[in-house]
Amino acid sequence: TRKRDGKNGMLVFDNSMLDTARERHEIEQYIEAGLKEDWFEAYLQPIVSLGDGRIAGFEALMRLNHPEKGILAPGKIIGIAEETGTIGRIGDRVLEKAISHLARISKLEGTEATYLAVNFSPLQFELTLPHKLAALLLKHHIAPSRIVVEITEAVLMLDNPDVHAVLKQLSEFGCRIALDDFGTGYSSLSYLNRFPVNIVKVDQSFTRSLSTGTNDVRRKSRMLIKGIRTISHQMGCSVVAEGIETTEQWEFLRKLGVDYGQGFLFSKPMPIDNMLTMLEMNSEAKSNTIA
Ligand code: C2E
Ligand code: MG
Ligand code: MG
Ligand code: MG
Repeated sequence: TRKRDGKNGMLVFDNSMLDTARERHEIEQYIEAGLKEDWFEAYLQPIVSLGDGRIAGFEALMRLNHPEKGILAPGKIIGIAEETGTIGRIGDRVLEKAISHLARISKLEGTEATYLAVNFSPLQFELTLPHKLAALLLKHHIAPSRIVVEITEAVLMLDNPDVHAVLKQLSEFGCRIALDDFGTGYSSLSYLNRFPVNIVKVDQSFTRSLSTGTNDVRRKSRMLIKGIRTISHQMGCSVVAEGIETTEQWEFLRKLGVDYGQGFLFSKPMPIDNMLTMLEMNSEAKSNTIA
C-alpha cells in the first residue's frame, strides 16, 4: 500500500510500510534459500479419536527452519509464496518429507493404519498432482487410502474444471478429501454435495467459543457444532475439531458426537524425531492413546 503525500502529490512511504516491504523481501529471500538449502520441514500433529484418545492420523504442517532466524510458520510464508509462484516447489518438498515421515512412523508397532493429512494451496491443484502424489506413495510404500488431502473453500471457489478433475482423480485413487476451516468464510454447504468430500474439519474458532463468552454464546456454539456434525454425518463425512486446548473442550466435543480432534491438549505440531520418540514411549506403555 502506498500513501500519497499532501504536498505536490509525491508518493511517500512511512516507516511501517518500509518495514513491511523489507520483511517481505527478507521472507522471499528465506524462501529461495530454504529451497536451496533444504530448510523446509513438515512438522506433525496427531489427530486423535475423541472417544478413546487413540491416534488416528497426523497433519503435516509446513515450517521453514532458518538456521539463524529460527522457525517460520506458514502464516508468514504461504501468502508470499503464492504471489511469487514458489508455493508449488515448497509444496512438493513438504509433501515428500511428510510422506517419508509417515513411512518411518509406519515401522512402529500399532501405527500401520494411521493416516497423513496434507494441506494444499489452490495453486497446487495442477493436473500433474495425482501423478506426482502416486509416484511419491509408490516410492515410500504408502497406500493411497492413508492420505488425506486438506483443502479450503478457496480451492473449491475457483470452480475450475481442472480442480474438479484433480479432486475426482485423487478420490478415485483412494485418497480422502478434507474440507479445512469449515464454518468460516463463505463455506457453502453445497460444497459437501458438489465435491467428493470425506472429512469436515470444524474451524478452531468453534472449539474456542465452547468455553469462552456468555452462557448464551456457549450454548449457541454447541448447537452450531451439533448441526454441522449432523449434516456432515448424514452426508457420509466424518468430523474433526481443530484447536482443542482444554479437557473441557474435549469433553464437550465428544458429547456433541464429533469423531476426531487435534490441538495443543493432545500435542503441539512437532518434528518427526520428537514424534517418533513420543510414539515409542506410548507403545512401551502399551497404549496408542495420548493425553
Ligand atoms: P490449518 O490447516 O487449519 O492448521 C491448523 C493450525 O492450527 C496450524 O497452524 C496448527 O499449528 C494450529 N493449531 C493446532 N492445534 C492448535 C491449538 O490447540 N490451538 C491453536 N491456537 N492452534 C492450534 P500453522 O501450523 O501455523 O498453520 C497455519 C495454516 O497454514 C494451516 O491451517 C494451513 O492452512 C496452512 N498450512 C500449513 N502447512 C501447509 C502446507 O504444507 N501447505 C499449504 N498450502 N498450507 C499449509
Ligand atoms: Mg489443515
Ligand atoms: Mg484448519
Ligand atoms: Mg486454519
